[in-house]
Amino acid sequence: MGDNNQNDVIREEKKGLSLAMQIFISLALAIIAGLLMQGIPDIAENYIRPFGTIFLNLVKFIVCPIVTFSIMAGIVSMKDIKKVGKIGGITLVYYFFTTAVAITLGLLVAVAFKGGFPVLSTSSLSFEEPEAIAPMEVLVDLFPSNFIIPVSEENMIQVIVAAILIGFSVVLLGERASKAVEGINLINDIFMKCMEMILKLSPIGVFCLLTPVVAANGAIVVGSLAKVLLAAYVGYILHAVIVYSITISTLAKMSPLKFFKGMLPATMFAFSSASSVGTLPINMECTEKLGASKEISGFVLPLGATINMDGTAIYQGVCAIFIASCYGINLDLSQMITIVLTATLASVGTAGVPGAGMVMLAMVLTSVGLPIDGIALVAGVDRIFDMGRTTLNITGDASCTIIVSNLVNGRKPKKAAG
Ligand code: ASP
Repeated sequence: MGDNNQNDVIREEKKGLSLAMQIFISLALAIIAGLLMQGIPDIAENYIRPFGTIFLNLVKFIVCPIVTFSIMAGIVSMKDIKKVGKIGGITLVYYFFTTAVAITLGLLVAVAFKGGFPVLSTSSLSFEEPEAIAPMEVLVDLFPSNFIIPVSEENMIQVIVAAILIGFSVVLLGERASKAVEGINLINDIFMKCMEMILKLSPIGVFCLLTPVVAANGAIVVGSLAKVLLAAYVGYILHAVIVYSITISTLAKMSPLKFFKGMLPATMFAFSSASSVGTLPINMECTEKLGASKEISGFVLPLGATINMDGTAIYQGVCAIFIASCYGINLDLSQMITIVLTATLASVGTAGVPGAGMVMLAMVLTSVGLPIDGIALVAGVDRIFDMGRTTLNITGDASCTIIVSNLVNGRKPKKAAG
């Protein structure tokens, strides 16, 4: 892969503030502006958010080709089908294991908080039910039935499956496909360059996306839903501090502090954009700076941004318990186990875009017979849940990348980010 064409958007220390610092400043400014605009949230929504939407649209535009070509470039650069199999195997085991731990943790934290959950009147709820999705449907939906539709509908999981199939075919063709390998690498570099330009706008995007959220939700945060939000954030933080610290230090032999510090630009971006897929390029940059090899980050991260959602799993566990207790329902152990299974599947089927996890919550609630209307209880503050869960989602993807890179290649240490 053309190293000279690396997207080095967050390495511009020489020219004034780094992108990470700019994002941080705009995050702080957005909170201040949002609080000041609490009385006039419509203005923030109508005049500030559209600029954030433009930025997010550009990110969405570029993400499909980035995922497709980075996965293909990752596979073809490995040349060896066994190596791809090994990396894929470790990645999937890690992703499923950490997600199952996450949802269990989410349930435990929620049970601990249960006594303090507000008793809400559920009679006046109105919420348009999202269609519940059956677990087997999630499995079937992983596979594309058409060459174009996955791209046009931005069905990332199907795009990934297609990219893996094509990538494998190129590897199997060997020497005959050497021109295709060059082509894939070149196209990958072109899209990376394009992404680099778009990402330079991220401080503006972050400000314009976050200000309306704070303007609209600032009062609610301190209101009755604060406890369920707190429960979710405790779960997110415990998972990061306990699970990732252990896996990073034992499996990647890296200090967790160094890991979290190096991940700061990506976590701040994820927090404000609430999109794992949108955070992908910055995440690649951070993990590569932390020493992950490019071929591995190009394969493990896009896969993770699509199927690995530890934060979403915690959120679903916390919300299931919260909704059950608001309706006066007590969940038994077998129902909890069902939640662990369905939430793990649900997080695989959750797209890495804002709000996707809330839709998949419907599947989890249905699996244990909880009323789907309960989603209305948490829908109003979903964005606040989402910012935290996305941050955890991408941190999990990054931890896997560093670990796989260490297990397969041995890390090539580079200068840490920031
Ligand atoms: N927004 C989350 C993500 O991009 C998905 C979710 O809604 O849970 O990772």
